[in-house]
Amino acid sequence: MNISNHELIGDKIEQSPSPNKGGKFKDGDLQYIVIHYTAGANRKSSVRSLSKKERVVSAHVVIGRDGITSQLVPFDTIAFHAGKSEWDGKTGLNKYSIGIEMDNPGRLNEKGSEFLTSFKAKVDPSNVMKAVHRNEKKETLWHTYTDEQIETCKKLCQDLIAQYGIKQVVGHEEISPGRKIDPGPAFPLDDFRVETIND
Ligand SMILES: [Zn+2]
Repeated sequence: MNISNHELIGDKIEQSPSPNKGGKFKDGDLQYIVIHYTAGANRKSSVRSLSKKERVVSAHVVIGRDGITSQLVPFDTIAFHAGKSEWDGKTGLNKYSIGIEMDNPGRLNEKGSEFLTSFKAKVDPSNVMKAVHRNEKKETLWHTYTDEQIETCKKLCQDLIAQYGIKQVVGHEEISPGRKIDPGPAFPLDDFRVETIND
């Protein structure tokens, strides 16, 4: 995977432009990467919903569980992923960040012996983990990410950091606490951030 003219090129990359985008980042404004989960069923359905004009939401990329990555908005252009948010003395982080959506249904519920997504899909127990969210106190159930997906995200962050001088990788749950819980404790955000900046 490489970045050329603000677009990803390479194997396992799909360009799928979304109409939901703003203007170009102002010089020096692009400083953060915000990690999200889609809370959806799969990469394709999430790309579709992030491209519906009436929803006015998008992200720069969606990374599937198989590592296949869809790019919806060029990296020099504002996408609509952060919403009401605050970080590092700034508000409205869309103007300052690249948004990466990870295909993942998010928090799970236990019903009898089954694990269900918020949209009532059954989840294989091997994809379920119990953990305490950084903004909460009790253990809850979360859908795991795949290694391939995490590695793809890491490589992408390294490339973006190198090319755009990004200074920090943050979670949506950190810039919109109380309102958002993605990417959640299944995403190794703290390790990831250190490794990404140091590698
Ligand atoms: Zn989010």
